Amino acid sequence: MTSSFKKVRALTGMKDVLPDGGASWENLEATVREWLASYGYRTMRTPVLEQTRLFTRGIGEVTDIVEKEMYSFTDALNDEQLTMRPEFTAGMVRATIEHNLLYDRAHRVYAMGPVFRHEKPQRGRYRQFHQIDVEALGFAGPDIDAELIVMLARLWKILGLTDIRLELNSLGQADERAAHRAALIEHLEKHRSILDEEAQRRMHTNPLRVLDTKNPAMQEMANNAPKLFDFLGEQSRAHFEGVCERLRDAGISYTLNPRLVRGLDYYNLTVFEWVTDRLGAQGTVCGGGRYDGLIELLGGKSAPAIGFAIGIERLLDLCSQVAGETVRPECDVYMVHQGEPAQRRAALLAEALRDAGLRVIVHAGPGSSFKAQFKRADASGARVAVILGDDELASASASIKWLREPAGEEQPQQETIRLDSLVTELKNRV
Ligand code: ATP
Ligand code: MG
Repeated sequence: MTSSFKKVRALTGMKDVLPDGGASWENLEATVREWLASYGYRTMRTPVLEQTRLFTRGIGEVTDIVEKEMYSFTDALNDEQLTMRPEFTAGMVRATIEHNLLYDRAHRVYAMGPVFRHEKPQRGRYRQFHQIDVEALGFAGPDIDAELIVMLARLWKILGLTDIRLELNSLGQADERAAHRAALIEHLEKHRSILDEEAQRRMHTNPLRVLDTKNPAMQEMANNAPKLFDFLGEQSRAHFEGVCERLRDAGISYTLNPRLVRGLDYYNLTVFEWVTDRLGAQGTVCGGGRYDGLIELLGGKSAPAIGFAIGIERLLDLCSQVAGETVRPECDVYMVHQGEPAQRRAALLAEALRDAGLRVIVHAGPGSSFKAQFKRADASGARVAVILGDDELASASASIKWLREPAGEEQPQQETIRLDSLVTELKNRV
């Protein structure tokens, strides 16, 4: 009888990682943790769910994310407005303030995990995706700004990625942006007739974002708009020059992109993106910037900070283009057996092999033929199959069959080893 239950499918834009794909994720995560540790970064974990107002304030009411991408709902159990985090920074800053982390020192911290945005799914754009989020809290820069960028260049190198380029801009300080904004709105007003609907709607709420348009009819207007850079004061320019000098010290090339504004409202001074042509339309692998006003805005004592986020799916897409998919054997040793006494003995031997550091699968399930078991053993990627049957048990030995030769060694394909020396033998030879 089949159940009448209508099968459930994953939500649109939310992907499963299946067993064959897991190794790429784990390898990348391990590489990333080592890379971050080499710069003194420590891990921090914050909840996936936060109060909605953390994000409306911390990201800005009129940003894309808050306007149309957040998974927000009312928790009917206690009537609270909640949101699945659409990015890490707001939550990391909330935790920093809540636990008073900056009272006597600055912190280099990071987190990795899922974030949620209700977007139109396509390559490189999902509704649940994953980020590596890095934050330098309490550092004023420009040294740390440059360090973060140099650090990213190192990651691309570790991963063997060459086609990623750096775009850089400075957003100055609030008063400089205000002066520029006034000039910009004036410019937009003058060209009102060519603005599309979205631009008209945004010209007073987020005019900088209007310049980010992909509408060809608006390109010339955007190109001729007043440049924020021309409104920067001496200090802002010095900060930016400080970053650029250090990037030149490290031999890192960059492109100045005066139109780079980023999606968050409270960025100031340094902003940057790493982009590639290898990912189709979704070419931004990493975006970051300084947010010296955010900690105070969210109720903390004013402190400078800068951070970035890398999209893991996009990074994995790039890695698979250079290195192919990572395949990892399921185990080192696969135990094949026939009959209940042999199965029970195999289970115990497997425990002893694991004590010795080997990864072992014991064939499970009733009455499979040797042939079926060997097929599974081979598919598992194991180096060696250990075979136990009545004959082997009677002579206190196991047959072993090498499925893959250890590098540079000639071994008999099949041999017999006494059970009391099996662990030592395999430990030394696998
Ligand atoms: P985009 O311009 O692609 O929408 P964004 O400015 O919204 O990016 P950020 O908020 O800076 O992106 O997020 C940092 C990184 O997270 C991006 O550079 C990208 O690699 C990744 N990312 C953002 N949105 C998605 C998504 N919907 N699916 C997969 N990865 C994403
Ligand atoms: Mg986006």
